[in-house]
Amino acid sequence: MQITPFTWRRLKNRYNLVGKKCVNCDSVFFAPRMICSQCNPPRETVDFKLSGVGKIVSYSLVNVPPEEHAAMAPYTLAIVQLKEGVKLTSQIVDCNEKDVHIGMTVEAVFRKITEDGNGLISYGFKFRPLLNGGKQNGFNS
Ligand SMILES: [Zn+2]
Repeated sequence: MQITPFTWRRLKNRYNLVGKKCVNCDSVFFAPRMICSQCNPPRETVDFKLSGVGKIVSYSLVNVPPEEHAAMAPYTLAIVQLKEGVKLTSQIVDCNEKDVHIGMTVEAVFRKITEDGNGLISYGFKFRPLLNGGKQNGFNS
């Protein structure tokens, strides 16, 4: 699963990480999907603001990235499980890669993802360490 980059004009919720929630069973999805995969018959989903706070469940250091991300290398790519339960893959920023560890509490930040050289810049979410331990966000343990 990947965070999908998007451009400014497509941006509805600039600083919010928005997924989908099933109207019937409350399953949460990210990447967003229009139809719940847990319900039979399928039910619709509605926008659902995610906390943006989660924990690293797996990570790796990327030394040889895809060409469009070459300027950022080396960087840490992690699987983050949000407190709502959904997992997503994201770059970890604002910290030394040696400090990244499994179980680390992180929060979503809004950052430039790619720049194509023709002025088109894509933005999306990355994650950084949550310095206060997440208590302000109600995310303990
Ligand atoms: Zn459902």
